[in-house]
Amino acid sequence: MRIDLHTHSSTSDGTDTPDELVREAARAGLDVVALTDHDTFDGLDVAVATGEEVGVQVVRGLELSCAHRGASVHLLGYGVDPADPALAGEMQRVRDGREGRVAGVLAKLDALGVGVSEESVRRHVGDSPSVGRPHIADAMVEAGHVVDRTEAFDRYLADGGPAHVERYAIPLARGIDLVRGASGVAVIAHPWGRGRERVLPPDLLAQLAAEHALDGVEVDHQDHDRDARRRLRKLATRLDLLGTGSSDYHGTGKTDHDLGCNTTAPEVFAEISARMAARR
Ligand SMILES: [Zn+2]
Ligand SMILES: [Zn+2]
Repeated sequence: MRIDLHTHSSTSDGTDTPDELVREAARAGLDVVALTDHDTFDGLDVAVATGEEVGVQVVRGLELSCAHRGASVHLLGYGVDPADPALAGEMQRVRDGREGRVAGVLAKLDALGVGVSEESVRRHVGDSPSVGRPHIADAMVEAGHVVDRTEAFDRYLADGGPAHVERYAIPLARGIDLVRGASGVAVIAHPWGRGRERVLPPDLLAQLAAEHALDGVEVDHQDHDRDARRRLRKLATRLDLLGTGSSDYHGTGKTDHDLGCNTTAPEVFAEISARMAARR
């Protein structure tokens, strides 16, 4: 049984439509795939329908933009009730914040001599209800300022980069409460990737588990090196947190994140499924 619990479609910043993504998952030999677009549920119905057609179980997921001590932290939610008003309200606030910062980022890029037009960014956003930095990065690639999204982030767009603009993100503990309050299973995405170990040290994860009923942490992720995975797995066991593994697939939008490059153990997925069912 091959299980991948973290993927993005063109409904957020991936390049496959939800339908294409699930067909791709079938071709990649996955039995289970979770669609976890950023701050939106819009791709889920199509993905689930395609999954039924091609024989792949699609888990309804979400990746919520949270923050802790000024650093961005991503929270995965599985089996979340999309009609929950508290969560829906906060998600709208996050999407408004994304929208609101585009002009600021474009002005900074302009001043840095690597400007792109708002129209070209819109073109890359397409049907997505959730405009993000990756769309700006795509416009920069198209304009020839950078070779790929990675260079756009490393040189300009990343947190603290010269073209970064702050936006609203949900305080992490509140994000966990919202996911749990909406009957979901809460798992912190790539907690120790890209220097985040300082932001999310073991004692904080212990506190989130004890006081906010955090369900798990993503252990096997491309942003974690072998040592980080080993230590995180040990910590998860000690704190009785579920440890997942996933690709964070973005289609052609992110290299080295192929579907199924990391997977979640069947017994861990069985526990996630049991919790989703119990909370429904
Ligand atoms: Zn993420
Ligand atoms: Zn992701």
